[in-house]
Amino acid sequence: MSARRDLGPKPLLGYTANAITRAAERRSDARFLAELEANAAARAYAVGGELVVLKKTASGLDPLFTPADARALARPAETVFLGLRDGAGRFGVGLDPAGVAALKARDDLHVNDLRSIAVQGLTDADHLAAIAEAKALLHWHARHRFCANCGNPTSVVQGGWRRDCPACKAEHFPRIDPVVIMLAVSGNRCLLGRQARFAPLMWSCLAGFVEPGESIEQAVRREIQEEAGIICGRIVYFASQPWPFPMSLMIGCHAQALSFDITVDRSELEDARWFDRAEVADMLMRRHAGGLTTPPPVAIAHHIIRTWVEDQARSPA
Ligand SMILES: [Zn+2]
Repeated sequence: MSARRDLGPKPLLGYTANAITRAAERRSDARFLAELEANAAARAYAVGGELVVLKKTASGLDPLFTPADARALARPAETVFLGLRDGAGRFGVGLDPAGVAALKARDDLHVNDLRSIAVQGLTDADHLAAIAEAKALLHWHARHRFCANCGNPTSVVQGGWRRDCPACKAEHFPRIDPVVIMLAVSGNRCLLGRQARFAPLMWSCLAGFVEPGESIEQAVRREIQEEAGIICGRIVYFASQPWPFPMSLMIGCHAQALSFDITVDRSELEDARWFDRAEVADMLMRRHAGGLTTPPPVAIAHHIIRTWVEDQARSPA
């Protein structure tokens, strides 16, 4: 028998509603990209490190500039081709982070970090996903200017989706860091942890980077055992989320707990403990008597936890 606990309409998972067609097959056509960028319909997001520049307009905040206007905001770095939106080119313009921070003084602009823009709902959801794409790719460029093979400066090709080394001919591609994020469950209980850097009273899923030579399932079991001392069996994949802080891919899972005595790794977590479904439902809906919370809906942790609370049939244990 499956039990359902309905917490109402499901919120959207942040950074996933990307309406841009990546048009990867056109990235090698430099002339096409140049014409696209010069077209009056081209638009760009302006990103400087963690900061994003938004225009104040009568109808709200607008993250879109012409590519030339975006490059004029501060000292420009790379411009990357994100893809096509309604046939027009959509780009990401990298800017000097200090120069972008200085734009906070301007009355006609709003400068903020992407997390705050997402949590506060300052732009439409499809912009969030496109800005995430731009931010992660521009971060890679900012830290990979030199060939990892021979040390020579590399050049940008393929609309920003590759850097080539003129000396040793090595081709370098943007990297993402896979991270497993998971909820260990057993019957009516689930395991949540707290990192010291979390907001007070917030508890979340455990998480950690996938290591070389490791499957997703192995990484999930290892991280839960390392951080909380819990042995897990069956692992069920839930969903994934691009997480551009700076360039991760969050891989969400549920895990079947086979042991119950928690040993917290204090170097990773401030605390970890078991919670029952009713308490977690109150935390998700911000009505917990003690003020405890889960991460907001923009984060996949919210959805991993919520799905376990709402749909017992999907639980691995
Ligand atoms: Zn090289």
